[in-house]
Amino acid sequence: MNVGILTIGNELISGKTPDTNSSFIAREINRQGWEVAMMMSVGDDTREIGKALAHVLAAADAVIVTGGLGPTVDDITTEAVAAAFGLGLTMDEQALGHIRERFATRHRRWTENNAKQAQFPDGAEPIENTVGTAWGFLLKRNGKIVAVMPGVPAEARQMLTGGLIPRLRREFPAAARHVAGRLMKLSGITESAVDDTLADVDFAGMCVGIGFYPRFPEIEIALTARDADGERAEERIRAAEAEVKGRLGRYIFAVGGDTLEAVVAALLTEKRLTLAVAESCTGGLITDRLTDVPGSSAFLDRAVVTYSNASKTELLNVPQEVIAKFGAVSRETASLMAEGVRRLGHTDLGLAVTGIAGPAGGTDLKPVGTVFIALADGRETRCRDHFLRWDRRRVKVSASQQALLLLKDYLCGAGHD
Ligand code: ATP
Ligand code: MG
Repeated sequence: MNVGILTIGNELISGKTPDTNSSFIAREINRQGWEVAMMMSVGDDTREIGKALAHVLAAADAVIVTGGLGPTVDDITTEAVAAAFGLGLTMDEQALGHIRERFATRHRRWTENNAKQAQFPDGAEPIENTVGTAWGFLLKRNGKIVAVMPGVPAEARQMLTGGLIPRLRREFPAAARHVAGRLMKLSGITESAVDDTLADVDFAGMCVGIGFYPRFPEIEIALTARDADGERAEERIRAAEAEVKGRLGRYIFAVGGDTLEAVVAALLTEKRLTLAVAESCTGGLITDRLTDVPGSSAFLDRAVVTYSNASKTELLNVPQEVIAKFGAVSRETASLMAEGVRRLGHTDLGLAVTGIAGPAGGTDLKPVGTVFIALADGRETRCRDHFLRWDRRRVKVSASQQALLLLKDYLCGAGHD
């Protein structure tokens, strides 16, 4: 089944209100195994609403409309839909009773314009609103369905999942399909490199949809397969997933919704290893991310932000001479910071970051974005250097990402680099 989504409101097309209803409805439709044929937004204008309805209905079996069901003069959706189909309006006594009762229990003054919210196009089936006043309605025309709900997101959501989706399932029983999906998260590779690596895989031939979603500093790959048979959809996903993993496995840090910090936290907890962190340019961001994970006290002993040279010496025992000779942003300093914080916390692991977040402070030899990340385990200290070409905030985010990736690689037993 194909569904079209039509959102109505001047505030949407003027850019004042982001259209969150469309994305919410689209997610729900996809979850049902149906497809969204198109999404469209128009202003509160009878002619435009009529034209949009005709356009969407030409491409879809059902159209879900939100917005403009309220009592005010700018709420014209019901009249516009009725006019589009050449229908009159009928007052629904049950809906009217519901609205009056809501006013009474809330001690709100009744004004006659509210009765408008209980009027529906002739032959329409009212959809109850348990959250607000304006009811929605469902209209069947030529085997197609027009469902209209209020614009208020909380009301539209409740009506969609509470009444409309079950109603549409009854209306189009054969259209019910299983959806199998896989979300893979990658880091340490660019979107174009991901695309290039997968360019020769025939996902369409496998009947699997693929989408790339960059979410700095990560890239998500979403695979979807739809089939009347759930197991067949799952099989296709498994095949596609194996293709992606075969080519990009080393960049995939999670399959499913897990964050990188959650993956690292689970590994540390499972291996019963403790961690101390020393941060310079990330200013505590690594620790912030790790402590976002519930249960992080199982592995995190302490963290220090050693921003100045003096603090690196005082707290972590990095010799002044090392900083003077190699610089605060250097492989040597990063390694000694990691070893120092590990000693300080008596932990299994010490993780340290030092870098130049910019915009000032760069040199020819060490430009802005130069970051050293070190991990010490008492036997050896590994250090990676990175050149992160971003603004200050993104350098910090990216450096925290690289630090967590270094930890993850170590915990997964990936070789030295
Ligand atoms: P009401 O009875 O509140 O007037 P309504 O059906 O007339 O309901 P609108 O007037 O269109 O709804 O919008 C009510 C509120 O919901 C407004 O604050 C509007 O910004 C918001 N809204 C409307 N449509 C959307 C949408 N597509 N996405 C997000 N918010 C929306
Ligand atoms: Mg309104």
